[in-house]
Order: sequence, then C-alpha cells, then structure tokens
Amino acid sequence: MKTTAPEHFVSTRNACKLCSPLGACFAMRGIEGCIPLIHGSQGCSTYIRRYGISHFREPIDIASSNFVEATAIFGGRDNLFRAINNVTKQYHPTAIGITSTCLSETIGEDVPMYLREYLMKRELGETGLTDRRPILFYASTPSYRGTHMDGFHEAIWSAIKSVTEHMTPDVSRPQQLNILSGFVSTEDLRELHSILGTYSLPYTLIPDYSETLDGGAWEDYQKLPEGGTPLTGIAAMPNAIGTVSLGKAVPSEHNGAVFLQEQFGVPMQNIELPIGIENTDAFFSALNEITGQSTPGIHAKHRGRLIDAYFDGHKYVSGKRAILYGEEDFVTAMASFLDEIGIVPVIAATGSAGTEFERRIRRSLRNTHAETLVMPDTDFATILEASKPMNPDIVIGHSKGFYLARDLGLPMVRCGFPIHDRIGGHRILHLGYRGALNLFERICNALMEASQNNAKSGWTYI
Ligand code: SF4
Repeated sequence: MKTTAPEHFVSTRNACKLCSPLGACFAMRGIEGCIPLIHGSQGCSTYIRRYGISHFREPIDIASSNFVEATAIFGGRDNLFRAINNVTKQYHPTAIGITSTCLSETIGEDVPMYLREYLMKRELGETGLTDRRPILFYASTPSYRGTHMDGFHEAIWSAIKSVTEHMTPDVSRPQQLNILSGFVSTEDLRELHSILGTYSLPYTLIPDYSETLDGGAWEDYQKLPEGGTPLTGIAAMPNAIGTVSLGKAVPSEHNGAVFLQEQFGVPMQNIELPIGIENTDAFFSALNEITGQSTPGIHAKHRGRLIDAYFDGHKYVSGKRAILYGEEDFVTAMASFLDEIGIVPVIAATGSAGTEFERRIRRSLRNTHAETLVMPDTDFATILEASKPMNPDIVIGHSKGFYLARDLGLPMVRCGFPIHDRIGGHRILHLGYRGALNLFERICNALMEASQNNAKSGWTYI
C-alpha cells in the first residue's frame, strides 16, 4: 500500500471535490417544504443550481441573499433579513435552510447571531410577516475548509438539532428507527425505503430527495415539489430505538446521529455505505440488532441472485485493475465491493483531506491491498499522472473523471455524483444487494464491450 501526499501542491487542477454549500443545498432539498437560502453572492447559487439541474434533470430553486460590493464591505445582515422575508412570502416554506459561502465566511458574518435577531423581530411582529413562521436552520459551509460532503452532513446535523433541540422524548409515542442516508442517489433512497418497509417499524429517513429531486412531470411549475423528510418525522427522531448512520466521514461534533445519542440517548450504529455484499450484510446486521428482528426473507433472495451473478461474471472482472475516485465514503465502500469481485483498485482517490481515508481503504481491501495507491486531498490532474504507470483496465467514478478515461483510452463506469454527461445518473442504484448487482453488471459489460471493440477478429459470443 502506497500513499501520496500533495507535498508540492501549488494549485488545484480540476478538483476531485465540490463546493461545500452545494452538498448542504441538496440535503436541504431532501426535507419536506424546505428551501435552501445561500448567504452570499448570486454566482454561488447559480453554480449549485447548474450542478443540480445537470445531474438530477430537475429545476432546483435555491435562493440567495445576493451579496454585492457594499455587502462584502459592510456585511449582509439586512440582505439576509430581506431574503428570509421574500422567500417566506414567495415559497411558503415550512423550513428555510441557510448556508454560508466562501465570501460570507471570509468577511466573518455571524449568521447565528443574525438569526437570533431575526427570530426576536419575528416574535415582536417586526418582520412584517405574521402568518408564516418557517423553521430556520443554519449550516456553516466555507468551501475552502471542506467538501460538498462536509456541507451535506452539516446541513443534516443542523436540521435535526434545530427541530429537536428543546424537545423532551415522548415515551408514549410508537418507537421508530432513524436512518441517515449519506449523499446517495434518488434510486438508492427508494431502495432504502423498500428495505425499511420490510421491517415492521416506522422510520425517519433523512434526507429524502427521492421525490423532490426525481418526481414526475408537472402540469404547472412547483416551487417546492412534494416529498422530503417531514418535519414531524425529524421531530420524532429523539423517540427512536436507534439510528443507523451510513458513511463514516462525518465529523463527530457535527453529526446528526451523534447529536441524537448525546442529547436523547438514542443508540447509533455508524457503518460504511451498504455497497457490495459485505457492507450490505453489515447494514442488515445493524438493522436487525436495533429492531430485534431478523432479515426479511426477500433480501436473502436478492443476495442469492447477486452471488449467482458473481459466479457468472467473475471471469470478466477477475484481476482487472481500476482507477476509483469520488467522495470518501463512496470510494471506501466501492473499494470493498471491487475487492470482493476480484478487481484491484490500483488507485483509490478522493478530494477530501480526511486523515482516516487510508486506514479505511486498507481495511476495505481484504484481498488486493498491496498494489493500491491511496490518494487523499487530490485533484484529477494528479490522478491522471499517477494512473499512467498503473496499467489500469477501467475507470470508475463520476463524470468529472471522463478526461481520465479518455486520456487513458479506457472504458468508464459512471457512478456517484455528479453525472452530467449521461441521462439517468441520479437513478443509478448502488446500495443493497440489488445495487451491487447493478454495479457488477455495469462493470462486466463495460469491460466486455471494450474487449469486443478492441478485438481484431471481432466476436459476438463470449
Ligand atoms: S465561491 Fe465558494 S461557496 Fe461560492 S461557489 Fe465558489 S466554492 Fe462554492
């Protein structure tokens, strides 16, 4: 196992991460009736909308407090108050999720203080809005300090904390299960609903943008599409018998599951994203332990079908060498999956500077670890340079790595986020036994197609 440290980094060339408020905004769109409001300039919200629209293929409204030169000098308190009022009047939201930006953080905006002041004005009837009182919550998301995943987790933590902070658990209410999903696809969220539906227990899945960012066609434009985690579901989280939190790259001080454990004594299980058999087995074990139930039979059938597919396709993947990149939790879980199907992830790369990344990758690789180059805090130009001597067969990750595949002349399997050069990227299923089957078939077929296209004689049967 080797590791690269960016010792001579002078600039980022095609970053392998995305902007922090971007992650926060998509998490906020997974809460029912919630509109994200960016405290910063229009450009930041436009960039995030553009990324969201090209991945989810849905219109995504993201409000902005619209910083201009004067705001950057004198502060954006009045802009923020005006923005909250305008958004409240125009969208009638049940919640407004406010995120900071590089600019508002750099000039030292104290948004929590502004919000306390705004809420006091609202109590006194001085905002001009008497009939609408959306919940306000705030995610501090300076992009120079983290990735889109930090913003994502910060928003979830803040939403849970803001809704539940002053509650007392209601022991008379029916007990339930909490699931923190991580930044997964809309199809993954539907798969989680499908799995959780087989356990006889109510649950809160947060966030849930399976409908808000992937709903049906509309007759008329909907400013706030239906769906999302209901605020009542968040309010019920302190009553849960346990929380399963997917993905481990979450700082404990801003972790919704840790907050519920410390504040309300809700036990938590923090596990890797359930990608591949081993991680999905661990997911079901966590569900079973918390609920006291055994795995519903339907999942054994999915698991059996997956193992059968592994038998069918192992000769196409065994010993192949992959360039793998993306956000830290995704890469860690995918490395485990590749390892179990016999593919060597010769590079495992992420833009996050998490110090645990290498250790997690090492633990995920039970069979093929010796050759893996682990690259935290990296960019695509560096990944490309490192890839050339690795003799790889396939590139696996999101659309920003397309240039890798093209320069290396390799097949590419798109997965993760963002996918903006194909249709349906947001509907790729990664999670659970069915997700592993989908990924396995995609990888087998990409390798078979490349082999077929490169064969001089040509063949149609293999
Ligand atoms: S300025 Fe910062 S917050 Fe705004 S889009 Fe760029 S990275 Fe994101």
